[in-house]
Amino acid sequence: MAAVEQTDRAEYVVVGGGMVADAAARGIRDRDPDGRVLVLGDDVDPPYTRPALSKKLWIDPDFTEADNDCGTAADTGAEVRTGVRVTAVDTAARTVTTDAGDVVGYGSLLLATGGRPSSGPLEPGPRVIAFRTAQDYRDLRQLAGDGRHVVVVGGSYIGTEIAAALAQNDTRVTLVMPDEVLGASMFPPRLAEHFQRMFAGAGVTLRPGTRVTGGTAGDDGVEVTLDDGSTLAADAVVLGLGITPSTELAEAAGLAVDDGVVVDGTLRTSDPHVFAAGDVAQYRDPLLGVTRVEHVDNAKTMGQAVGELMAGRTEPYDHTPFFYSQVLGTRYEAVGTLDGSARTVEDWATDAGPEGEGVVYYLDEDGRVTGVLLWDVAERVEQAKEVLADRAPQTEEQLRGRITAG
Ligand SMILES: Cc1cc2nc3c(=O)[nH]c(=O)nc-3n(C[C@H](O)[C@H](O)[C@H](O)COP(=O)(O)OP(=O)(O)OC[C@H]3O[C@@H](n4cnc5c(N)ncnc54)[C@H](O)[C@@H]3O)c2cc1C
Repeated sequence: MAAVEQTDRAEYVVVGGGMVADAAARGIRDRDPDGRVLVLGDDVDPPYTRPALSKKLWIDPDFTEADNDCGTAADTGAEVRTGVRVTAVDTAARTVTTDAGDVVGYGSLLLATGGRPSSGPLEPGPRVIAFRTAQDYRDLRQLAGDGRHVVVVGGSYIGTEIAAALAQNDTRVTLVMPDEVLGASMFPPRLAEHFQRMFAGAGVTLRPGTRVTGGTAGDDGVEVTLDDGSTLAADAVVLGLGITPSTELAEAAGLAVDDGVVVDGTLRTSDPHVFAAGDVAQYRDPLLGVTRVEHVDNAKTMGQAVGELMAGRTEPYDHTPFFYSQVLGTRYEAVGTLDGSARTVEDWATDAGPEGEGVVYYLDEDGRVTGVLLWDVAERVEQAKEVLADRAPQTEEQLRGRITAG
């Protein structure tokens, strides 16, 4: 087959214009002031901070979408193309092809394609939003407020954050979630009950132990059917059902793919000129083992590192990420796995328990710590990592008081 002619070339090409793309452009620039960086993203917006879409933009009236722009091009000199989808990667020719028909050559390529939100049994449309992008935020803003009714599906991070944000913005919210108690899949029972009370207290109607089985969307609203046979009429539905990593380009290019695009300690895929990072990448973490992380600390830190590695850094990547969420005035941070069915040691600062601050340790069958939750406890992530790194079995007495609030 004749080689396809290149229409453009950059030393560094990034597929996906999200949070990793922004961090990677910064990492490249820290090492290489001159190399051309080209970001090809299918979002209509240039890189922005995704966590603000479900939190700060709803609760801080002084914070606008303009403040939420990462400023990638201005800060790094990268060329950021929006609304461009990469449709193929040719690792032999070292080119990518876009949906506009461009064939762009690269020196190093970064796959920073993140993930696409799952929609479950409801088809996304103008009133059914599988929440992920800044455009989703703008669309939901139009559909919310003025006492309107929004059904939020899913009781994990995105679902709880959006439910809280809407409830604080003059919107009636019904939260449909499979857990019998909100947060029960992540938190021990006492904390989950407190978490659920926070939402009930904010006026959110909870439908625990319930799943959406279908629904119909019209011009004026949506009717949602639940697995207990009941229906809900709403102005809009928000789906917070997790993501599927966008690995299809890597698969079609013949790169190793498992739960995500497989990378080594230098964040290279099975092709040494192609890197991957962020939500899409499966890597070996020194504390967590082989994993794929869908959180912002991972996106920013791995993104910065992959940029440096593309531009000549040789030290491997060894950062263990934390994650955080913030709802209804409470912030929690965590390292490792939060499994509500695991044995836990709860170490609350006062007798008020989860009403105040505290630390929850999650243990495996042998008593080793597999996760640490910092409930309204700031600046203790490094200590939490130290506890996780200690592979000796721990007793309750050893864990109590090991991490204290500042
Ligand atoms: C609403 C929301 C709130 C969040 N809040 C938190 C939080 O509080 N705490 C936390 O720890 N984490 C949070 N996260 C997770 C965090 O934002 C993600 O881990 C992070 O954005 C991942 O960055 P990424 O660059 O890997 O993927 P993304 O930011 O998703 O970027 C990937 C981009 O690539 C594009 N793309 C995919 N395929 C192609 C292609 N073929 N061609 C061109 N472009 C393509 C996608 O459309 C997307 O724009 C939140 C996520 C969301 C959605």
